[in-house]
Amino acid sequence: MRKPLVAGNWKMNKLVGESLALVNALKPLVKDVEGVDIVVCPVFTALHAVADALKGSNIQLGAQNCFTRESGAYTGEVSPQMLKDAGCTWTIIGHSERRQYFNESDEFLNEKLRFALASGLKVMFCIGETLEERESGRMNDVLVRQITNGLMGLSEADFDNTSIAYEPVWAIGTGVTATPEQAEEAHAFVRGLVRDQFGEAVADKVRIQYGGSVKPDNVASLMAKPNVDGSLVGGASLKADGFAELVRKSL
Ligand code: PEP
Repeated sequence: MRKPLVAGNWKMNKLVGESLALVNALKPLVKDVEGVDIVVCPVFTALHAVADALKGSNIQLGAQNCFTRESGAYTGEVSPQMLKDAGCTWTIIGHSERRQYFNESDEFLNEKLRFALASGLKVMFCIGETLEERESGRMNDVLVRQITNGLMGLSEADFDNTSIAYEPVWAIGTGVTATPEQAEEAHAFVRGLVRDQFGEAVADKVRIQYGGSVKPDNVASLMAKPNVDGSLVGGASLKADGFAELVRKSL
């Protein structure tokens, strides 16, 4: 049985004070929730303050990105070691916005993934096809490429600390959610790829989150599918009430 993982990706939203207000409102709303891994991913500048606010709570802290070196002349970048120092246990890698706006390739994302894992962070590794790729029948090819190149070189143990987030790009921030059937089809396909490449034990244990306009009113039907193990939530993670409801409905 895979433990559900529900993560809020706040993207480039909220100042430090607003971030603190959000987690301070969220904490009491989920404090009795057991059996779900809950993660929030604020902007870099709020991580340290939010880490302090989360001490003693059942909410874990994640970053939205990281770099492939520990330190050095890499202006503007942040290392996994720095994220851990700020209180993170998780990072997102390969979000479609990083792929789209910052041209992050599968190979570069694989380097990031391996470095973050080797540095002791847990990773939510994002994959997913665009609308054009889906409509032209290339969805499976895209997922094969992203999984094969993106997860290359991982060990069986690495999958204890790696979750795959299937996020169809056409569903992110659009209000259009994949139907539970579409999500299940993609998740089953991805789990099959993991089985082919890493074996049965890895395929059984790896968590696959769905992301793309997840809301309190659609999360339960997504979570009812056998291969959906959680969610990565953008817009609906920015309000404490809604995110808490979404977490509760993920049990
Ligand atoms: C995301 O940011 O990963 C995401 C899925 O966004 P939204 O929930 O707003 O579609």
